[in-house]
Order: sequence, then C-alpha cells, then structure tokens
Amino acid sequence: MSSEKLTNLDRLCVHTITTKPWSIEEIIENYPKAGVKAVSVWRDLLESREAAKIGEQIRGAGMEVVSLVRGGFFTGKTNTEIQTSFDDNRRAIDEASALGAPIVVLVCGALPGQSIHRSIAQIHTGLETLLPYAEAHNIKLAIEPLHPMYADSRSAICTLKTANEFAERFNSPYIGVAVDVFHLWWDPDLQNECKRCGEHGNLFAFHICDWKMDMEDMLNDRGLMGEGIIRIREIRSWVEAAGFTGFHEVEIFSNRLWESNQKEFLERIKQAYLEYV
Ligand code: ZN
Repeated sequence: MSSEKLTNLDRLCVHTITTKPWSIEEIIENYPKAGVKAVSVWRDLLESREAAKIGEQIRGAGMEVVSLVRGGFFTGKTNTEIQTSFDDNRRAIDEASALGAPIVVLVCGALPGQSIHRSIAQIHTGLETLLPYAEAHNIKLAIEPLHPMYADSRSAICTLKTANEFAERFNSPYIGVAVDVFHLWWDPDLQNECKRCGEHGNLFAFHICDWKMDMEDMLNDRGLMGEGIIRIREIRSWVEAAGFTGFHEVEIFSNRLWESNQKEFLERIKQAYLEYV
C-alpha cells in the first residue's frame, strides 16, 4: 500500500466552488497560471453561459474537465416535485454533454420527516429512469454519499456501503460512486468499502478537504487539507489500492477561505496538496 507524498500537481483538480468568489472566466484565467490542470465545474457558474463554449475555453487553457457538479436529489413529497427533480437531472446531463464533462456528481436527496427507506426507494426509481438518458449521452453518474449530519434534508445515502449497494444493483458502467473524505473519514468500514467499490469498477471520483474540530457551520466551514483531523493520505492509499487512478479533487466550502485573497488561497491549496495528500 503506497502512502507516499505526491511530488507534483499532475493529478490535482479544483472544484469551482472552492474559489467561489471567482467567475468561470476568472477560473479559466487563474487556475492554469497556478499550474492547475483540471477542474470540476459547478452548475451555477454556467448560468447565462454556453456550456459548450465554456468547455472549449477550459480545454483551450490546457485544463481537463473532470466532472459537472451536481445533479441528483430524486426525492419529493409529490409526483410534481419528483418530476421537477428528474427534469433538472436531464438538464444536468445535457450540460455535462455540452461542456465535455464525463461525469455528473449526484447528491441523492432526503426530505425532512420522510423515512430513509422511502427516500432510498425514490432515489432508486429516479436513477432507473435517468440511466438510459445518461447512457445515450455517454455521461457517467457518480453517487456521492454525504456525512450523516446531512441525512435530514440533503442525502439519504450516508455511507460508502449504501452507495456501493446502489451501484452494484444497477451493475452499469454508467453508475458509480464519488468518495469524499469529508463525508466518509469516520466510517470504520471505509477501507473495505473502498476496496469493494474499486473491485466492482465503481470508484469514479475522489474528493478532498479537511474536517475542522472547531467547525462553525455544518455546510460552509470545511478545512483546507492539513487544517483538520482527516487522515487524507491514508484514505488516498486505500482508493489507489482499489485501482483508482483519477484526479484528486479539492472541494472546499468555506466562508472564511472565500473571504481571503483567492490567488493566495490557490497557492495554499497547492502547498497543502503536496504536504498532506
Ligand atoms: Zn464531494
């Protein structure tokens, strides 16, 4: 099992949300200057833009598009709500296809007061309905399990085991999993489930940041790698032992870091990546 330090930025990818103050144009200008070679694009940055053109600009700047973030949810109290979610997922696939992103990351919803089993059943139906559309557009869907602190309203899929079960039930090259250290670091089964995920060909993406013990906000106070307690390098060694060879995607939501100078923050990301990932 390799847990050696990384020596270059070849596999570093940054999510656009990480530098939230920047527009997609500023990102296309500033990431390559800093030596970042890959980007995962959040859909809000494509609003009132032509996705195909943005994709061309990203590639023209020497970067690769790793994924489009995000679709999913699938849950609803009424059929209309479920249909709205489905329509949005089809749009996400259209956008990914135009952008040239091979993967759409899915957050699979939960509803306050609705049982987890009902949410899981709705997610299953949603994925089943969406899969032919994803296949037709050659876009892969990556189920991202979220930390159980989001099980009330955001995600009924909270462990890698549950995500693996979903992916294995479909047994399709178009449905897999995104492993995010922020959501999964605490799970005593993580190493085994990473192995299982890789063995079934389902390990589509690897997201990194850190878990601060003095977190002030459940959503927007994630840490830069090294600021918290996640054993990121160890988890990287597990996903790589499971056969993962893709990008290491830095995805940080942080009011504190968004307030800082974003060019300096990007430099800190690079240093932290080489030091702690
Ligand atoms: Zn993530």
